[in-house]
Amino acid sequence: MSNIVALVVIRVALDRDDQQLRRWERKIAFGYRMFIGLYALAGASTLPVAWLIARASFVSYVQSHLLYPLVLLAVVEGCVEWGLSRLRRGRHTLLIVTGVLLASIAIYFNPRLHAIESILLLPILASVFFLSPKKVWLAGILAMLAECILYWLNPFHGHESGTTPYDLITFIVELVGETVVCHGIIARGAEIWEELRKRGRLETELLVRQIVSEKDAKTDALTGLYNRKSFNEYLEFALRISAETDTPLHLAVIDIDNFKQVNDRHGHLVGDDILRRTARAIEYHLAAGDFLARYGGEEFALIIPEMSHEEAVAHVEKIREKIANIHHAELTTQHATVSIGLCTYVPGEDSQALFQRADQCLYQAKKSGKNRTIAHP
Ligand code: GH3
Ligand code: MG
Ligand code: MG
Repeated sequence: MSNIVALVVIRVALDRDDQQLRRWERKIAFGYRMFIGLYALAGASTLPVAWLIARASFVSYVQSHLLYPLVLLAVVEGCVEWGLSRLRRGRHTLLIVTGVLLASIAIYFNPRLHAIESILLLPILASVFFLSPKKVWLAGILAMLAECILYWLNPFHGHESGTTPYDLITFIVELVGETVVCHGIIARGAEIWEELRKRGRLETELLVRQIVSEKDAKTDALTGLYNRKSFNEYLEFALRISAETDTPLHLAVIDIDNFKQVNDRHGHLVGDDILRRTARAIEYHLAAGDFLARYGGEEFALIIPEMSHEEAVAHVEKIREKIANIHHAELTTQHATVSIGLCTYVPGEDSQALFQRADQCLYQAKKSGKNRTIAHP
């Protein structure tokens, strides 16, 4: 049972931010309104019998057992609603004090009702929702004080048929017991909450590490593009889909022209910058289904699905022109061009054969003057 309550406490702890706490405050205030409603209902339904037993005048009985307490309860409840909407601090204390007051009013006006004192346990239980042992003890001590005062105000105290000092002591012990249990529930809830938080942090860390290592394994550190391994895997998949759905697929191999010269003249760091810029430019002009990878060195591989051969040629030609127009201030030529070999997948062909054909086209593009596309349908 205490575990279930502890889980409820955790649930509340998870919602510990201010907005959620406000929601809980409103729920408790709603609980108080329900309490007043129930008091009115129970009072009205038992009125005839209670009146007969009390043998008092009906009007004065209604006044003292229903009218006065209900007016008082409503005034206290009105004050708390007003306080909740105005106060920025101390709202929880206000709710606890109100709970004890409402219970005390109900007890005061029904001195002969058996075990009515037990409603003083309710504000202690409600205080658990604020997750503070201090608040629980505040509710407990206020309830004990109220019980002592109510005992002395009770016209039947010390009577044979009324409450005795033993009743008072027994009930005070009960209140202390409940306060201690509520304190324990909060402490246990806080323990579980801390454990959950630690576990959550650990899981997040593991997840981040896994994502990072997966990304590292699939991408190329310099350009951030997919690496050769990812390309090979994806090409197999793309070929299978193309064969199954009978849709066209093209492979382009893009190689930077005279890149060795760039390195030799301007250094590797400039070479790296040119590589990155070229990668970004291709990436920027990709079509929706394209898959781009850095195949190796200064060579990129581009898989183009769902276009006709002519469209694919126009697509890579546009990319080539864009790259040729990039202004590289570091280079004496100011520009770095690429040559492209493009070929269309023939059903039944394997990935290696397709790549070799594309590479062959690239070789021809290099041989015939570079900065051009050679395509093979
Ligand atoms: P071609 O026009 O025929 O392609 O000539 P190329 O000079 O571009 O080709 P080559 O294969 O002779 O040289 C490629 C150069 O690319 C050699 C290598 O040092 C350089 N390279 C490969 N990877 C990197 C890299 O990550 N960074 C830099 N800066 N250079 C690289
Ligand atoms: Mg090259
Ligand atoms: Mg090369």
